[in-house]
Amino acid sequence: MSDKKVIVIGAGLAGLSGAIYLRKRGFQVEVFEQNEQLGGKAGEIRANGFRFDTGPSLVTMPFVLEDLFREVGADRSALLPWLEIDPICRYFWPDGSQLDAVGDVERMQNLIEAFAPGEGAAFRRFLAYCKRIYDATADIFLTAPIHETTVWLRLQTLKKIFSLPRIDPFHTVDQSVRRFFRDPRLVQLFDRYATYNGSNPFQAPATLNIIAYVEFVLGAVYPHGGIYRLVSRLQQIAQELGVIIHAGQRVEKILYDDRHRVTGVQVGGDGHAADAVLCNADVVQTYANLIEGFPRERRKLGRLEPSLSGIVFLWSVKKSHATLAHHNIFFSADYQREFHQLFVEKTLPSDPTIYIAITSKTDPADAPPGEENWFVLINAPYLDNTRPADSGAAAALRKAVFARLAQAGIDIAPYISHEQVIGPDDFYRLYGSNRGSIYGISSNSRQTAFRRPANRNKRLSGLYFAGGSAHPGGGIPLVVLSAKMAADLIARHTGGQQQQPAG
Ligand SMILES: Cc1cc2nc3c(=O)[nH]c(=O)nc-3n(C[C@H](O)[C@H](O)[C@H](O)COP(=O)(O)OP(=O)(O)OC[C@H]3O[C@@H](n4cnc5c(N)ncnc54)[C@H](O)[C@@H]3O)c2cc1C
Repeated sequence: MSDKKVIVIGAGLAGLSGAIYLRKRGFQVEVFEQNEQLGGKAGEIRANGFRFDTGPSLVTMPFVLEDLFREVGADRSALLPWLEIDPICRYFWPDGSQLDAVGDVERMQNLIEAFAPGEGAAFRRFLAYCKRIYDATADIFLTAPIHETTVWLRLQTLKKIFSLPRIDPFHTVDQSVRRFFRDPRLVQLFDRYATYNGSNPFQAPATLNIIAYVEFVLGAVYPHGGIYRLVSRLQQIAQELGVIIHAGQRVEKILYDDRHRVTGVQVGGDGHAADAVLCNADVVQTYANLIEGFPRERRKLGRLEPSLSGIVFLWSVKKSHATLAHHNIFFSADYQREFHQLFVEKTLPSDPTIYIAITSKTDPADAPPGEENWFVLINAPYLDNTRPADSGAAAALRKAVFARLAQAGIDIAPYISHEQVIGPDDFYRLYGSNRGSIYGISSNSRQTAFRRPANRNKRLSGLYFAGGSAHPGGGIPLVVLSAKMAADLIARHTGGQQQQPAG
């Protein structure tokens, strides 16, 4: 082990995995997390026999976590067994139609063909197109620190840049989805993947269509015991490796000397020295609140559009619903209008798309027998500093959810025995998410989709970033990849060991 020390700010999924990667690269590692509960947006609430994950509900690209466990020699299948979710999601439309999305491509093709004759083959063509984008982008945009000159100078990168049109950056997600599907319900279903990183399918570049490929072909899983079990396992692995974790301690300042070299952090008024700092706090908030100076960075970052936020209802439900699956989507009648309201008018949608996850369908221990734990998520605009927060928002949305479910024959209100609401203000207050966004920066423009904030600041040596607001973006697998990239950069610049074999 080296005597070099790295301080990690924040114990979200990126901070915890970053701490593990850094320890494996030989550093002394200390983590400061402002909340008592670790995991950041991937939180957990337990009450009266119910268990709820408060953030993510689905793990895509599971091989990213497999790699992390393999690198530390941990047995992923014993520590964090996956449960396959079948169907991956049950979709409901306002006209009463319904479709199950399944991970088996052949079966999915048949289900689509039965749902909308002629569209099964379109699905196969669409997946082939998404795969081409994935193959052309994954190793430069997802797994490499794209802001580093060394990455750009690689022949492989240059070749990929010259094949740019293959990644379809000049159409929007919706425009390209429409080239494949005629049925408007399927257009809506495949447009929805843009929201997996909080973006607008009517603005975001069609390159984001890779997300559909990632889910259908590369797999989507759910950890037995819930998403929070991933947080607990990462915490356990980090501590077994010797990472020191301080919960309930907020970093107030990142310290640097007059040669613009990071020297440590300030917590509770005391300085803590470090050779490098890995910051898992939101990049925009970090420049606004934790670093003195650097007005250029602050201005530039302040101009980037945040991702969607959301309003979450956690409902303890005294009934079980055979018509619902583990993941369910009730689509709005007019998706374009919904996203216009979210991103242009910056208001809550009048007819929202409703996502309902009921993990007790798969993991019965999450609710008492015969009852269900409902996680209901509705997309909401990021906080707009120019207008006051809408205090009646939750009440209006609750009514809209009840009305939409009633149309589908589900009378939910009398069966809710307990409710907890989490909204944009909570994401801002609890986790320091810029303007309450849940995926950092949106990918609504080519600039933000391909050039997210870098994993380090070249003008302030020793400061690195990992997490949803940095490259390559939000969502569980991407924040873990960002942590790995940042740890590798720190090892390269700060004299750690290069990646070690497992065991
Ligand atoms: C409702 C919801 C649903 C989602 N659904 C999915 C999904 O199904 N699948 C998926 O892959 N992703 C999903 N996501 C996104 C996913 O949760 C995030 O991308 C990911 O958890 C972000 O991890 P992170 O480490 O980047 O950031 P965070 O979780 O925000 O962690 C940052 C941590 O830093 C701490 N911190 C900040 N400032 C300081 C400071 N000054 N001092 C000390 N600590 C500090 C915070 O308290 C926090 O713990 C969802 C998110 C939400 C909210």
